[in-house]
Amino acid sequence: MPEPIESQVDLADLPQEERLSRMRHSAAHLLAEAMVELIPEAELGIGPPTATGFYYDFRLPRPLTQEDLKWLRRRMRKSIGRRLPFEMASISRPEAEERWQGQPFKLDLLADLEDGAITQCTHGQFTDLCRGGHVNHTGEISAFKLMSIAGAYWRGDEANPQLQRIYGALFETEEELEEYEHQLEEARKRDHRRIGRELGLFTFSDVVGQGVPLFLPKGETVRHLMENYVREMQERTGHQHVWTGHIVKGALYERSGHREHYADAMFPPMVDGETEFLLKPMNCPSHMTLFNAEAHSYRELPLRYAEFATLYRYEKSGELSGLTRVRSLTQDDAHVFCTPDQIQAEFALALALVKEALETYGFSDYRVALSLPGSDDSTKFVDAPEKWIQAVTALRSAMEASGLEFSEEEGEAAFYGPKADFLAKDVLGREWQLSTIQVDFIQPGRMGCVYTGEDGKEHTPVMLHRAVTGSTERFLGVLIEHFGGAFPLWLAPVQAMVIPIADRHHSYADEVAATLRQAGFRVEVDARGERMNAKIRHAQLQKIPYMLVAGDREAEAGTVAVRVRTGEDLGAVSLTDFIDRIKEERETKSLLP
Ligand SMILES: [Zn+2]
Ligand SMILES: [Zn+2]
Repeated sequence: MPEPIESQVDLADLPQEERLSRMRHSAAHLLAEAMVELIPEAELGIGPPTATGFYYDFRLPRPLTQEDLKWLRRRMRKSIGRRLPFEMASISRPEAEERWQGQPFKLDLLADLEDGAITQCTHGQFTDLCRGGHVNHTGEISAFKLMSIAGAYWRGDEANPQLQRIYGALFETEEELEEYEHQLEEARKRDHRRIGRELGLFTFSDVVGQGVPLFLPKGETVRHLMENYVREMQERTGHQHVWTGHIVKGALYERSGHREHYADAMFPPMVDGETEFLLKPMNCPSHMTLFNAEAHSYRELPLRYAEFATLYRYEKSGELSGLTRVRSLTQDDAHVFCTPDQIQAEFALALALVKEALETYGFSDYRVALSLPGSDDSTKFVDAPEKWIQAVTALRSAMEASGLEFSEEEGEAAFYGPKADFLAKDVLGREWQLSTIQVDFIQPGRMGCVYTGEDGKEHTPVMLHRAVTGSTERFLGVLIEHFGGAFPLWLAPVQAMVIPIADRHHSYADEVAATLRQAGFRVEVDARGERMNAKIRHAQLQKIPYMLVAGDREAEAGTVAVRVRTGEDLGAVSLTDFIDRIKEERETKSLLP
């Protein structure tokens, strides 16, 4: 017989996270209960809580429909109304095996459990194999909704049977649930894949291959401007740009250690006779090879190499997603070679660059996570404990001096050194890891990098790996969602659309466009035979910052009637004044309009 386990809790005493987790977990039980009533042959998988609700996996004889979701939700609400207690009990293996006959996934889970640790939970007539963590009774489950149906594999393995997963959202109040749905809707509207298509920025093609974004002219314009911006920033801060191609010999990655640590992320090698070549997944070994091409004295340090390199990383086809997860990506990568005494200043410089870039792109809310060695895992850093201590002190001082908000994550450092990750929140409050600065004590030594010190002896430099925007593709994907496709003027692929009112205004419209192009702006003329309002609407949908209407009055006075994409109407403005206005916006990389 199952042995009851007492587990009454006062929900109000629990932290909110725990309370929500219990409600979400309990709601999953109700979903499974409803499902076996709807489809008695349903085979039950697992049903854990998530960060916004819960899900449950089922193997079913037919595909689920939206109607099913409505029915299931009604059935769940009925159980909530009954205030049925959740009763945990211990159960022996033979009893459990007997009870779960005909439920292959439950039997599979059971096989993983230790004897004496098998528990189940019952509410009303329904029992599920369960570890616990519920509310007291079904009446304590708050506002929820069944959101969507997706496919999933048993235990996440493609070799296993495919299941149908129902996702639910659950929050403490109806208002919070509504707010969450609103956020989802906003995120859907801002989806960069959708905006990329609508604005003609980029595309993907199975003919070329999955995970390789193809940039259309407008998308390439944005990419180019983003790269130019970082290039200009790097040049003014003493970086030198280099170029190291797309492939390297496999032997180089054996020496650097990447072949061993990075094998899963690389495409298989290409073979030329005795020599194996690999597509570059990163630049570090190439930049160290460049460093080694000449002799260096301490006087030349720090030496900062920067490269816009297209790299190739093997990602499983199922994990590719728009621009945020791709197989070919371009990094604004830099490697700084310096002496141990220069770490703090170089780290501070890298911080300043990242800070400037994030703010220019309108990410005002960001924080830095500093990954440091843990106090108890000094063995991991046995190679050079005094260097570690010195570097950690330098990084901390630089962080404090920068005034940036930062947290220290002990024990999170990579084996070759501490690092700083920038986590920026977008307009929807989602956090993205965008930029990274990594201190490296190991690779320069492995690659035999040396400089002659003040003492006339050879020393190994410290290397900083740094990416301002990370990958151009991923950063652009995040930017598109952050701006909802409405790029600031300096970044907009088309900055102004000239709209002639009637055919007789075409030559004046062309004149306006030519003057703006002369001043270096990207301009189009909408010469289609559409009505003016339709043209304005079209330009607004294309998120073009400015619409310049040209009719009789404007042609006569040498003005344009300026509409901003935000809906603001600036009225008639002389062409010279308009150019002054947008020059100012372009030069200051203003976030307007
Ligand atoms: Zn449970
Ligand atoms: Zn690197």
